[in-house]
Amino acid sequence: MTYVKPLPELTHEDRPFWEAAREHRFILPRCRDCGHIWFPPYSSCQKCLSFDREWIEASGRGTVWGYTIMCQPYVPGYADEMPYNVVLVELEEGPLLYSNLVGVPDEEIRPDIPVEAFFDDVTDDFTLIRFRPRNRTGE
Ligand SMILES: [Zn+2]
Repeated sequence: MTYVKPLPELTHEDRPFWEAAREHRFILPRCRDCGHIWFPPYSSCQKCLSFDREWIEASGRGTVWGYTIMCQPYVPGYADEMPYNVVLVELEEGPLLYSNLVGVPDEEIRPDIPVEAFFDDVTDDFTLIRFRPRNRTGE
């Protein structure tokens, strides 16, 4: 079946992130000068503007910071999935990341739900990072 939703166009800034995701690794950029960790994976540190970044393995754990339930097909390809959720996850490492929450009814989604990342191979070339609930102990 053809995947009909939008996919990212890779740039030199985010290519390492997407290539790692395809290998089922969740990485984040960290500044070698000030230690800041950020997302989306721009080339330069969002705190000190240094271009000296390295990649670290993310824990995959976070909490729901905010969410919305999409009820209009603003984005082509989603018409058959109305409604669907979009969550903003605050990662343990600090950055916020937009994704979807799976395994929780939309009406039960709320801030502070503990979540963990999982990998969704949507095409041969792309793997998306989505989230599902985890218990409070982190396991
Ligand atoms: Zn920095």
